[in-house]
Amino acid sequence: MSNAYTGTLNKLIEEFGRLPGIGPKTAERLAFHILKADAPAALALAEAIRDVKTKIRRCRTCYNLSEGELCQICSDPRRDRSLICVVEQPKDVVSLEKTGACKWLYHVLGGHIAPLDGIDAGDLTIDKLVERVRTGEVKEIVMATNPNIEGDGTSLYISSLLRPLGVKITRLARGLPTGSTIEYASGRILADAILGRQVLE
Ligand SMILES: [Zn+2]
Repeated sequence: MSNAYTGTLNKLIEEFGRLPGIGPKTAERLAFHILKADAPAALALAEAIRDVKTKIRRCRTCYNLSEGELCQICSDPRRDRSLICVVEQPKDVVSLEKTGACKWLYHVLGGHIAPLDGIDAGDLTIDKLVERVRTGEVKEIVMATNPNIEGDGTSLYISSLLRPLGVKITRLARGLPTGSTIEYASGRILADAILGRQVLE
């Protein structure tokens, strides 16, 4: 950062520089872009940032991102309410929805169980999932946690809680490379994994 810039401009460069994948040069370029842009265009960015922090919350039912009490998926009457797909993060919902192969509802855990990082089952929305299965019309739970050690462990733990409730438990087919994530899987692999899902023993 240079002393040649005003404090305000330095602040903007600093903020851009905090974003992932943005180095000092890019931060500088973005800040100058904003400086040169006309006021409405620049302020639209500021407003969009404020809106995501003030308007977006968690769906009351599935914990996906939402601007209302219920997310768009939970509010959609065409969804098959007997199927719930369990994912770690809202970004996984986006990846699965892009395949166009899902007509189910979701449950977003908010992460995976990772005792070494201090994340245990109580930090996730697992109890809310059990509640949904207990009180709802759910027939099948599709586990779509990431195919890595933490994701598999979380999936097994949840299965052990749900199995006594008599619900069928499946998981996405193993076309997904082990150690990978749902977020970065290709659409075609995900679509195959959805269609070829297997009963979790
Ligand atoms: Zn929802």
